[in-house]
Amino acid sequence: MSDDARPRLIIASHNRGKIREFQAVLGNHWQVCPQAELGVGDVEETGSTFVENALIKARHACAQTRCAALADDSGLVVPALGGAPGLRSARYSGGDDAANNALLLENMATLEAADRAAFYVAVLVLLKHSDDPTPLIAEGRWHGHIATAPRGAGGFGYDPLFVAEGYEQHAAELSAEEKNRVSHRALAVQQLLTQLAA
Ligand code: IMP
Repeated sequence: MSDDARPRLIIASHNRGKIREFQAVLGNHWQVCPQAELGVGDVEETGSTFVENALIKARHACAQTRCAALADDSGLVVPALGGAPGLRSARYSGGDDAANNALLLENMATLEAADRAAFYVAVLVLLKHSDDPTPLIAEGRWHGHIATAPRGAGGFGYDPLFVAEGYEQHAAELSAEEKNRVSHRALAVQQLLTQLAA
């Protein structure tokens, strides 16, 4: 039998990078456990906002495991495109990351520089149990603009096109350490840690 006194926290994600990041920052206080280890599969993300989808994923993991669960939902928002790719960031083109980037460039081809503003958003939801009426909700935003051509081989998703405020390099040209220090996800995690400590 385990004598670990830390409460168990299920991570409602299958993304290994995210799970590693959560283990690193929450492992002191929680026994962090990926949902796949407990046989929890995906749930349909039927919400129309990032926060609704994160709640759906966290509630699903809680209900299946009867433990506290943490979910995140993230994406890229371009105000001049009415918020697209938004909730559909991962499946914008129906193809892979390169196809998503190509479609984004095509849809922004006629936009002036001033209309190329964009931000990444990450929403985290922590539910203590599936009927928890007071979820902890944290949100991080990383502001910048969309360049006219891709650069860099790091990161993932739209990072070859995203240039954050204060940087000349594209996000895909930043080191993982640098990105993890300043990104939308890093900001949301910091905010969640502040709420947990309060
Ligand atoms: P999810 O949070 O795994 O559902 O990610 C949604 C999608 O948003 C990803 O597949 C990417 O297309 C995009 N996205 C979210 N965060 C990032 C990021 O840090 N860099 C690049 N793309 C991102």
